[in-house]
Amino acid sequence: MTIGGIMFQIGKPTETLRLLHWTKELPRVSENDPLGLELRVSARLANELLYCITSITPRARYYAFFPWAMQDYNEQERLTKGDRGRIQGVLARERAMVLGAVLHHNKKTCKGGSLGGSDKAIKLVQKPARSYDLLTWKHLNNEEGQFGAAYKGSLINLGVFKAADEVSEDVEAETNELDKRTQSIEVRELSPLGLRLANAFGKSIHKTAYVSQSLTLKDKIASNVLLEFGSKAGLCEINHRSPKDRDVLRDVFFANCEELNRPAHHRRRMSLLLLLACVKQARDAGVSLDARTFSDMCYFDAVIDEEEESTTHPVVLPAILSDIKERWRIFHTQGYLAVALQSFLVAVVRQIGNKPAGVEREQLALLLNPPNLSERFTEVFGTDLPRDFYEMTPRETLAFCGITLGNARKASLPIDAKFSERQLEELLVESEANEAAGVVLASMLLYQTILRHKVRSSDQFNNWYGQQIRNDYADVALPGLIRFFESEFGEQWTERKNSEILDRVIWRFVIRQHQTMSYERGFGGAAPLFHVDITRVVATEMNYTDPRAKNSRFWSALQILTDLGLIVKDDQVYEMTKDGEAWLASELGRVGTA
Ligand SMILES: [Zn+2]
Repeated sequence: MTIGGIMFQIGKPTETLRLLHWTKELPRVSENDPLGLELRVSARLANELLYCITSITPRARYYAFFPWAMQDYNEQERLTKGDRGRIQGVLARERAMVLGAVLHHNKKTCKGGSLGGSDKAIKLVQKPARSYDLLTWKHLNNEEGQFGAAYKGSLINLGVFKAADEVSEDVEAETNELDKRTQSIEVRELSPLGLRLANAFGKSIHKTAYVSQSLTLKDKIASNVLLEFGSKAGLCEINHRSPKDRDVLRDVFFANCEELNRPAHHRRRMSLLLLLACVKQARDAGVSLDARTFSDMCYFDAVIDEEEESTTHPVVLPAILSDIKERWRIFHTQGYLAVALQSFLVAVVRQIGNKPAGVEREQLALLLNPPNLSERFTEVFGTDLPRDFYEMTPRETLAFCGITLGNARKASLPIDAKFSERQLEELLVESEANEAAGVVLASMLLYQTILRHKVRSSDQFNNWYGQQIRNDYADVALPGLIRFFESEFGEQWTERKNSEILDRVIWRFVIRQHQTMSYERGFGGAAPLFHVDITRVVATEMNYTDPRAKNSRFWSALQILTDLGLIVKDDQVYEMTKDGEAWLASELGRVGTA
């Protein structure tokens, strides 16, 4: 897309605006969730879809390594004379693995990254030493290492430990670690499932000197011993010949054991199968699976190959995956909602930024309709808006996009339509949220997302979506927003003026919502984007320019499928391995009985 080019040629802001833009570099909000859409409803949906696989737990082998480390401590060290305590004992074994892997990879991290503490390990091994003291060296700030910082919640929820209740897997935005409560939980004994993982991992490393000579009890370890241990225990070494733990891990992630017969685990299984099927479909269509194509497959049942002349390929997935695909469609519906509302926020912040006395609610509507709005719209789409956007109704706006209300066959656009949700989102994220017509694009996106959701989502999936709203004020999601529309405007909201709709939507779901969120949690200790004084909005010194929505568990799931040897990334493109093809076929075959 050449939007960037167009922007520089034609869409020049006025000199004054441009000067302001360059001279007043506002600090950015430290995180990307100013309306709480991501850490609340989206995070809950993701937790339902990829239970036990979080954004900070992308490496399959840690799920076997930590059970082994704890079991080795329990069996070899606990209550012995030199007992270092469980936390220190597990930590020493983790450090041996991290340092060993870095030594093995010649001062580099394991393939695929996310080896916790590898930065410090790489620094340490710059100066070659004959041995390293694992307890004086600190690889991570967290006192329980990568276990406490990231994997503990997922391992508890997988049932790796005895008698542990379900915990929050949420990742704290400020620290990118598990929340404090989950971190503070003590786990001591492995469950039978945990023991199976521990034993399987143990078989992969039992011949190393570190293990066979009981050196796991020691602090000071020779570097050649560490190197040998790393060459077997490292994260990417799971894909070496005959790793004993990989099969057990496959069964755990795909919930192929009786301990994991709960719906949450079944849903993770189905999500992983869906991802495998999508890797295959994407490859067949000549594109690589990424967050974008995955969204397109779930939301539009199609992918676009942008390499050549932008070809659209329909996606047909096995019927058995349609339930999970519908749930992922809901997840991406929430993503589109987030981009629309966050784009409104970008526009608001931009417009109130240079007005130290603040802006009244009525003024806001005028500011969001800048004089060059229509001009910008024409520049982007090559077609004129029929009249003043704020005087148009949602019905007219949708008709302009190509949607006829009340006509089921014209209720939503195909993926490659000029005004489809996908195209609007891409434009907003790339540049347009920060341009004069951003509010128009965001409105079109919002209306379409609502409409498609109403037409396509059965009660079952809409209810599931609605269940993630736990607090009507703080949790923004489409079921709540639609209720708001219908209570404010009645069923006929599409006949109102855009100006009326946007005034209410922006006031409730952007201004007030941001305010609510700032009470819920500070923005990394910094002030939020603006203060609200009854009906006056006063900007702070913070800026907000990126309306993007994330799918933070997606990459972790793909890395785990890679670690399990089911897919492989070749030249930036994911492909199924032979093993993956066979696994998908056999798992889809037995899916009905699971
Ligand atoms: Zn490695």
